Amino acid sequence: MHKIVILGSGESGTGAAILAKRVGYDVFVSDKSPIKAQYKTVLEAQGIPYEEGDHSMDRILAADEIVKSPGIPEKTDIMLAIRTKGIPVIGEIELGYRFTKNAKIVAITGSNGKTTTTQLIYHLFKSAGYNAYMGGNVGDSYAELVAGALDLPETKENKRIYVLEVSSFQLDDIKTFKPDISVLLNITPDHLDRYEYEMSNYVRSKFRITMNQTEIDLFITNADDPEIQGYIRQHEGEIRPMMEDIKKEDIKNGIVHLDDDVYDIRPTALKGPHNIFNAACAINTAYALGMDQHEIQDGLLTFVTPPHRLEVVATKDGITWINDSKATNVDSVYYALQAVETPIIWIAGGTDKGNDYSPLFDLVRERVKALVCLGVDNEKLKTVFGTYGFPIVEAKSAKEAVEQAQKLANKGETVLLSPACASFDLFKNYEDRGDQFKAAVVAIKSKNEE
Ligand code: ADP
Repeated sequence: MHKIVILGSGESGTGAAILAKRVGYDVFVSDKSPIKAQYKTVLEAQGIPYEEGDHSMDRILAADEIVKSPGIPEKTDIMLAIRTKGIPVIGEIELGYRFTKNAKIVAITGSNGKTTTTQLIYHLFKSAGYNAYMGGNVGDSYAELVAGALDLPETKENKRIYVLEVSSFQLDDIKTFKPDISVLLNITPDHLDRYEYEMSNYVRSKFRITMNQTEIDLFITNADDPEIQGYIRQHEGEIRPMMEDIKKEDIKNGIVHLDDDVYDIRPTALKGPHNIFNAACAINTAYALGMDQHEIQDGLLTFVTPPHRLEVVATKDGITWINDSKATNVDSVYYALQAVETPIIWIAGGTDKGNDYSPLFDLVRERVKALVCLGVDNEKLKTVFGTYGFPIVEAKSAKEAVEQAQKLANKGETVLLSPACASFDLFKNYEDRGDQFKAAVVAIKSKNEE
């Protein structure tokens, strides 16, 4: 029996375990950290053996194949031992692909906008009645979705569309995974600690999304992204799928043109130039898989943007409050500042991942009128923006940040939480930061009530 060991038991590891068990593999799950109760319950219900808090080297090294969770770096002891022994290693996406049948695959990657675009594409298909499933880095794991289809007869009715968000880490562990449509949104520095601080390694990783695609597949990407275009120029002839290069000039003023059709993004919830670009990618995908203009436009109109991404929380006393807690890097803050056209009280800070704030300088000078630093250590933000001449205050909780921002904001202005940093110094994760911010905004009294 094929002996498979799954390293890491989060969403993807547990999904891989379910699929591996269903196809008759001998499965063992090993996680160096405690496994969350919800995943343990699943493993136990399926009769899948596991260990937590440690890796039993002997048992792991006896495997025929390893499925590695995307969060585990290559330089860990366990991965070094596995590589030394030469055991084949794949990721959960590859395992899912091995058992995928009767389906079209859309895979979305990029440094920013993956979740929004994945959810939008899924919504377009779903709202038009297609048999679509969303997974990967968002929602259910791909492997678990595939496990759910193993016994279905391969009829036209059962044909699925998998819409998958894939990170660069997940792409590092694919071998044969081949999307029918791949979408590469943008590439800006992120996670460089996992790529030997070499941007070129990270870019190469992202392009793996196309590596098994052929001439009948489609690759949708960004004609204005210098990293992407640089890579394409250097690798001319190597990228085989048909390429749809989306240009900024084609999506000006919130209108997307495709063939003879026109799509109006202005009345939708997708705000800001970056979201119009995301919409253009989604429209191209839906169109390529057979949806017509009306279905696509209707879907665009009913789409609700995911929380924590430029989410308008409330308007009180003429002040708009926006939660963009998911903006954990400088690039996404750039797009947030660009999307908000009023003067901004900017709430930023947290765990700095080696940020270079210089791409923000012009926009900050133009739009920001006060900065509320929300972090344990705010020295860098205070130093970088200390000479801009606007007030800079500090807060140690979301509630305090909201109270400070309210004092600084006037009618017609926007308070924008768009941190550029990870959240772990004061919060559990970015969702927790965004939720606490929203709760604090809901709780503030209107200035008129005081
Ligand atoms: P990801 O899943 O790649 O992290 P999200 O959809 O969760 O992306 O969005 C993360 C952040 O990036 C949000 O602050 C959002 O406003 C911003 N963003 C969304 N789309 C884009 C884009 N195309 N380019 C740049 N930033 C974007």
